[in-house]
Amino acid sequence: MKQDRLIHGQLADYPVRFFCVNSTETVEEFRRIHQASPTAAAAGGRLVTAAILMGAMMKNESDRLTLIIKGEGPVSQIVVTAGNNGQVKGDILNPDIEVLINAAGKLDVAAAVGAGTLTIIKDTGYSEPHNSTVRLVSGEIAEDIAYYYALSEQIPTVCALGVFVDEEGVVRHAGGYILQVMPNCPEEMVVYLEQKTAKMSAITTLLKENSNPQSVIAALFDEGGFAYEINRTLQPQYVCDCSRERVESMLSALDTKEWSEIMQEQTNVEVKCHFCNQTYLFDVKSIQKIIENRQKG
Ligand SMILES: [Zn+2]
Repeated sequence: MKQDRLIHGQLADYPVRFFCVNSTETVEEFRRIHQASPTAAAAGGRLVTAAILMGAMMKNESDRLTLIIKGEGPVSQIVVTAGNNGQVKGDILNPDIEVLINAAGKLDVAAAVGAGTLTIIKDTGYSEPHNSTVRLVSGEIAEDIAYYYALSEQIPTVCALGVFVDEEGVVRHAGGYILQVMPNCPEEMVVYLEQKTAKMSAITTLLKENSNPQSVIAALFDEGGFAYEINRTLQPQYVCDCSRERVESMLSALDTKEWSEIMQEQTNVEVKCHFCNQTYLFDVKSIQKIIENRQKG
């Protein structure tokens, strides 16, 4: 049985909502597809986990959330897209960076990412996608997500993300949570959350003990005696929605100069999807057909 699970709920007596996920298998799939080194898997896996959590906050099934990290570090760029149903896909520009370890002996995600920006694109299908970019405050990604919510949405947010990679380079535990404090929350709860999250074990340690994300929520709130309710449970999954038709329409959008270069070569064109490694082969004949259709259209 798959262990990946996301839960969404809220405290019974305080205006605090939470999203918590065990994303282990989904992050391992991301690592496997990109053959990501441990540090790249940790950086990409954290962004994948954040996208699952933030995607689940979107209202409609057709809504799409995209997170883009651009940094001066060796990873350079990570792009992740998620729906509101836990489905996610991601791409990392340099998956084979060397292993970087920080002073605490952990995989150094901040060094892998470097200084840069985090862009959040919310596509709800109605108008132009809502797009906002913040500078990275730490490069550890969780703090950067919290900073985005504080700055762009004025919602006090606590975010934790973690990816544990074993000696063989396989993702053994991955997960995260987002806690959001809604207006009029008593100060005592804000203080409790700050203190509790600061001293709590890493999320990967908690998930190693108990893979159910509800155990993490219990670890957060049981000590304070705070009752909570779970509103929604869903199963995260790495899914790519590419297809031959989509690649064709992408090809037909190429400009005339690019087409004449392709036609001069008179060879097959191979297009590889960056999110899942699926390759689509177009022979000279099918390329001519695309050009013809393009001229008609
Ligand atoms: Zn694909």
